[in-house]
Amino acid sequence: MSLPSCPKCNASYTYEDGHLFVCPMCFHEWTAESQRAAEEASIIHDANGNELNTGDDVTLIRDLKLGKDTLKKGAKARNIRILDTPVDGHDIDGRVDGFGMIYLKSSVVKK
Ligand SMILES: [Zn+2]
Repeated sequence: MSLPSCPKCNASYTYEDGHLFVCPMCFHEWTAESQRAAEEASIIHDANGNELNTGDDVTLIRDLKLGKDTLKKGAKARNIRILDTPVDGHDIDGRVDGFGMIYLKSSVVKK
């Protein structure tokens, strides 16, 4: 298993010291537990709790108002992207036939 990059300065010279990860560049120390927590926090889940990844196709689990149109439950969003920074509470976007690229919430889709 490769060691994680430093969460502070992003250097990849991490070494293990007992139960600690240590960065020799900025002397930051962190634990495997905090590393795991940080990784889990950045994982986006669908309505069923499955992990979503960039490039996945998802299906809407309920109707969504989109201006004056309604995006029907069961509509497919293709080739989704996980947004680094949520836009207005939306954490993914994807291409929906007839609508183009739209922002979505991971809580209203499933794989
Ligand atoms: Zn560092």
